[in-house]
Amino acid sequence: MTEEGVFHHPLVVELLEKARVLWALGHAMSLMSWDLETNMPGKGVTARSEAFSNLAVLQRNLLLRDEIVKTVDKLSEGIEELDDYEKGVVRVLSREIRIARALPEELVAKLAKVTSEATRIWSEAKKRNDFDRFRPHLEEIMKLVREKAERLGYDQHPYDALLDLYEEGLRTRDVEEIFSSLVPATRRMLDKVLSDDFYPRKHPLEDSSYDPERARELMEEILLKLGWDWNRGRLDESPHPFTMGLDVDDVRITTRYEGKDIRRALYSVIHEFGHALYELQIDHRIAMTPIGGGVSLGVHESQSRFWENMIGRSHWFLKGVEEIIAKYLGAVAEHNWLELYRYVNTVRPDLVRVDADELTYNLHIYLRFQLEKRLISGDAQVGELPELWDSGIEELLGIRPKNYSEGVLQDIHWSHGSIGYFPTYTLGNLIAAQVWGKMRSEIDGLPELVEKLDLQPIRRWLRDRIHRWGATYPPSSLIQRVLGERPSTEHITRYFEWKYLKLPDELRR
Ligand code: MG
Repeated sequence: MTEEGVFHHPLVVELLEKARVLWALGHAMSLMSWDLETNMPGKGVTARSEAFSNLAVLQRNLLLRDEIVKTVDKLSEGIEELDDYEKGVVRVLSREIRIARALPEELVAKLAKVTSEATRIWSEAKKRNDFDRFRPHLEEIMKLVREKAERLGYDQHPYDALLDLYEEGLRTRDVEEIFSSLVPATRRMLDKVLSDDFYPRKHPLEDSSYDPERARELMEEILLKLGWDWNRGRLDESPHPFTMGLDVDDVRITTRYEGKDIRRALYSVIHEFGHALYELQIDHRIAMTPIGGGVSLGVHESQSRFWENMIGRSHWFLKGVEEIIAKYLGAVAEHNWLELYRYVNTVRPDLVRVDADELTYNLHIYLRFQLEKRLISGDAQVGELPELWDSGIEELLGIRPKNYSEGVLQDIHWSHGSIGYFPTYTLGNLIAAQVWGKMRSEIDGLPELVEKLDLQPIRRWLRDRIHRWGATYPPSSLIQRVLGERPSTEHITRYFEWKYLKLPDELRR
């Protein structure tokens, strides 16, 4: 490394050298999972899973080596002597060690085995609309996840232990507080939006087909406009779009081209770009260390949602890209930016979370949060899920699933054993709105910049405030530091009111 390092304490430097192999193994495993999603022939899955589970054990054993654990313990005792980056390294490794120690190898292996089988069964059950096929697997998963929560420990609610795995420090009561104001505010606005026709429930362009080859070219040009560096990133195709950050200088995103309704591909590219930019703008001096990645799922999702919604779905951005879109997609060319804006901002109660618009999205998360909390505390049983799901979504959105596939079986997360993950989506939406509010007050002429696609000031703002730190600070401290306040629903409510209640009048004029 040519740049001067940020790590000076001799014990930290030594620790980082010892921990480098953990990074290298993680790097290799990330590449393996990127390959699994993009290139691997289907039958390769058996060998790949076996390789993963063996490497996961190796990873755990390498982490729990005496030389690592003792050094981390020693540094924790004198934590006040360390600078912020060094403290971050100790915090991240202590946390990983605590989690690895709390969960016995048998439990981890059991969960891996049960969930990989359950994922296969879930996909079949969803196709055949057969909840009973999935039910015993989910029961087994819930049992193991409850054990996991007990072993990890918690102060108030067993669900706290699970939330913390995805969002360091997040508690059940924080999430309850968020939803207690966000849900009524959303429903109030939704009623108004639906009684007006500015944001259509359905737009004709949703049925319009496109040529995937032209769409690929369009995405490449859009990415260039967003600031993509092809020497440091790739765009590939996979059934489920995702971002894989292998290193600060090697970040890969994917999308899929369904041949219809171009906004699905377009907004998945912009979403993943947001995730990717976070990883790409981390300070090179902390690359390949325990703090050299995004800090949490919630903060990560805030970056993707910021680009997808606040920037990408704004009328300013659509004015900016109108001609580019028209260049590649004939059918869309007949529509001006205002029509494009209405197309990418339809609002309707939808049964499926991934198809939900910005406004109703968090209601879907609220349902999952309530159900997970009840399942983990034993207040509800897996067998009751279909009915709880259907009545829950009906209460929130006024529509009821006709089958399990568009109801309780729609998401993959539970089959993976990822309980406590969903709330990070809403947290990300909250933080994205906070970032937007703060940025608008600090960058002059932000709307004009977006319209001109002069996005460098935005990228730089995000880099200096959030990205460059990686995982140096815990997520809540980072947000407090950057935005001056904890995540709250104030900003997202204000943003929704502006976008859904005020803006239509301005745009209609
Ligand atoms: Mg995401």
